Amino acid sequence: MTQTQGPAVATEFQGSTDPECIFCKIVAGDVPSRRIYSDDHAVAFLDIGAWHRGHSLVVPRRHVPDMISGEPSLAEIAPAIDQVARLLMRTLAADGLNMFASTGAVAGQEVFHLHVHLVPRYADEPGLEHLVSHASVPDGELDSVYRQITGGR
Ligand code: AMP
Ligand code: ZN
Repeated sequence: MTQTQGPAVATEFQGSTDPECIFCKIVAGDVPSRRIYSDDHAVAFLDIGAWHRGHSLVVPRRHVPDMISGEPSLAEIAPAIDQVARLLMRTLAADGLNMFASTGAVAGQEVFHLHVHLVPRYADEPGLEHLVSHASVPDGELDSVYRQITGGR
């Protein structure tokens, strides 16, 4: 998994983008990602360290460090969360899905640009005890699931 360095606590950055932020760079298209959805307020892309097939992140286009800093932004990405959750369930034939967001290093947050994890779940690895995986995911597997979600578009 790519280790993304971030401050121990969210900075008070208030602008719409942070030139140092990896997710701002992904939103801008300056860093490649496997983008599966976008609208006026949000972008969603596959997590490169996927815990389960189709693990995706939904992020606001503007830079907001987390759920409790800067402009409250969960509501503006809620439609994207709704759409992407359904997209993943439909295209991957998942059996369930976890949605969560970490706030602060103590909660496990590593990238300090608000993001909601959507983790499709499958019957062969059920329950919260199997939510987290530390196995690395080959690029080919990410490419394969990307094609399945997007239909090769
Ligand atoms: P968190 O621990 O909630 O901050 O999650 C950050 C997530 O971002 C981790 O699951 C990483 O695998 C993921 N991640 C970091 N860099 C990238 C990247 N360039 N593209 C896609 N996902 C990333
Ligand atoms: Zn950012």
